[in-house]
Amino acid sequence: MKEHTLQRTRTAVQLAALALFVVLLRQGRITGWFLLFFITGIIGSFFLGRVYCGWLCPMGTLLRAQTWGYRKLRLNRVKGRALPVLRWVVLAGAAAVMLVSRRSGQQIPLMPVMILVSLTISLFVHESFWHRNLCPFGALLTRTTGKFGKSVVITESSCIGCGKCERVCPSCSIGIQEEKIRYNSSRECLVCRACIPTCPTGAIAYEGRSRNNHEEDSAVLPRR
Ligand code: SF4
Ligand code: SF4
Repeated sequence: MKEHTLQRTRTAVQLAALALFVVLLRQGRITGWFLLFFITGIIGSFFLGRVYCGWLCPMGTLLRAQTWGYRKLRLNRVKGRALPVLRWVVLAGAAAVMLVSRRSGQQIPLMPVMILVSLTISLFVHESFWHRNLCPFGALLTRTTGKFGKSVVITESSCIGCGKCERVCPSCSIGIQEEKIRYNSSRECLVCRACIPTCPTGAIAYEGRSRNNHEEDSAVLPRR
């Protein structure tokens, strides 16, 4: 499938997943969504990378729409600092809230609150700030992805350092090494594949893991 066609397919899949999420939420069956996350997110990430983030997550879908609006309006947002430890704090907090909800038998609207927070924060900073620093689902997936299976890789010998891929990346997972040559951090990559058609030299591909494995690098955002 051509990459441009694939992006249209991705939009359709994201909208369908968002509709399913809303239905489950309205029916009070949000555990069904967590099951979907376990299967497509946790298990899927071992083989395909973070496809849950780039193709299914309701927050990812809404943040993509928000970023699309900012691009249309030609508005820039700052990228913010890299503080990845924060997402573990958020994960611990979310787990505590779920435990209280289960023990008390009271439904706490954790997912809608997280969606609202992610969209509000991303009004002011680039969406990568949420993906890289705050998302508790993303925190878990950085530990399970990149072990084996497929990932988005950049052939360094084909890269001319133009930076086009970096400009479309929602998670700022593309970093720069010497001579402006780019590499991708597979742990932070959302497998949205938006970078692939932007590359003028065809240096980027989604393929089996063999080279350019920068899974240890999780700090493309500045650490200032
Ligand atoms: S590196 Fe490419 S596929 Fe990965 S998140 Fe960035 S734009 Fe998407
Ligand atoms: S778009 Fe391609 S050539 Fe340009 S920096 Fe990215 S990988 Fe390198």
